[in-house]
Amino acid sequence: MPCKKTNKQNTENNDKSKLKKEYINNSKKYAANTYARFDLVLESGNGAKLKDIEGKEYIDLGSGIGVNSIGYGNKSWINAVNSQAKTLQHTSNLYYTKPYIDLAKKLCSITKYDKVFFCNSGAEANEAAIKCARKYSFDKYANNDKEYKRNKIVTLKNSFHGRTMATLSATGQEVFHNYFFPFLEGFSFAEANNYEDTVSKLEDNACAVMMELIQGEGGVIPLDKEYVQKIKKYCEENDILFIADEVQTGVGRTGKFLCSEHFGIKPDITTLAKGLGGGLPIGAMLMNKTCSNVFNNGDHGSTFGANPIAASGALEVLNIIDKDLLKEVSKKSKYIKDKLMKLDNVESVDGIGLMLGIKLKEGLNAKEIVEKCISKGAIPLTAKTKIRLLPPLTITDKELEKAVSILCECIG
Ligand SMILES: *Cc1c(COP(=O)(O)O)cnc(C)c1O
Repeated sequence: MPCKKTNKQNTENNDKSKLKKEYINNSKKYAANTYARFDLVLESGNGAKLKDIEGKEYIDLGSGIGVNSIGYGNKSWINAVNSQAKTLQHTSNLYYTKPYIDLAKKLCSITKYDKVFFCNSGAEANEAAIKCARKYSFDKYANNDKEYKRNKIVTLKNSFHGRTMATLSATGQEVFHNYFFPFLEGFSFAEANNYEDTVSKLEDNACAVMMELIQGEGGVIPLDKEYVQKIKKYCEENDILFIADEVQTGVGRTGKFLCSEHFGIKPDITTLAKGLGGGLPIGAMLMNKTCSNVFNNGDHGSTFGANPIAASGALEVLNIIDKDLLKEVSKKSKYIKDKLMKLDNVESVDGIGLMLGIKLKEGLNAKEIVEKCISKGAIPLTAKTKIRLLPPLTITDKELEKAVSILCECIG
């Protein structure tokens, strides 16, 4: 009987909403207060869709901050991860395992880098890059010199490189330089797109420059191509390593496998993480020939780095992100830009591929609009004052159309 069914459904809904409150309370009680979380308890995903504990569906425009590059429920990824979990989940890096070797080979062949070091996160990949750059310079220039100081890393203002002590020290935003004193020495911050300022910092004993080609957390701000190319050239002429932090921009996010392809450069070191594992924690530092033999036995390491499960997942991600998918990313980017640029309340849509930042007209609040989108069934992110979009690269046209129509409705 319909009436009875409705009652039953009501009770179920009440139970779910009670459960949701309980989860949130327990989280607040037992988990560190490091996140101002949205009022959402997510339970499952399929394609680019997420479902919360109350059964409500959302189109995901954030991918867990650019991580779920191939969306949810991808069969080949699930099979790869499942079967590896059944066979051998972890060994440490004291021994050889096939997934690790296959992944290293495949990544080098896609990116034309010489060697790769694996770890578990973006911050760790950048830590590895910082250590590699310092040792590169030390090996070549220290000569037992007690006064040796060619060890500075120049990064950019408004950058974000991670939360560990070294990567926080490398992050060029004052807001991050509180509480945790003392920070590491040997970092200086140059103004993005200012060649003279950057060179003046590089002249002061730099061994490397590290930059995001599109500043992500800083507000989805692409650097000027000409500036990047000029700095790259200066670095080549002065034996300073160029490190591209592609933790957010890498692995197809911008419609090229690496964002540096858009900039026409080949950095000495590129770091990857977010999108690489399809949801599993993995980071990578790619090295070109100049620095691929800087690390020797015992110089650096990671217990988990590319363990068999994470490596199997990442290998499947690399199989899925092929030329055709990259073309789709660019096509979808254009679709989003065209639709959003028509809105009165949109000032600009910045970024490349499916890493986009929507700059709103004065007086509009990105966080409030995101809340509105969530209530209507789409989940974008924010970056500084912008609405940020990092949807799964595999989002279908249909999912994207729906999500963009929700965005348009909420932005107005
Ligand atoms: C997210 C991010 C990091 C930090 O990555 P974690 O995996 O959180 O350590 C570093 N650099 C950039 C550009 C990022 O976007």
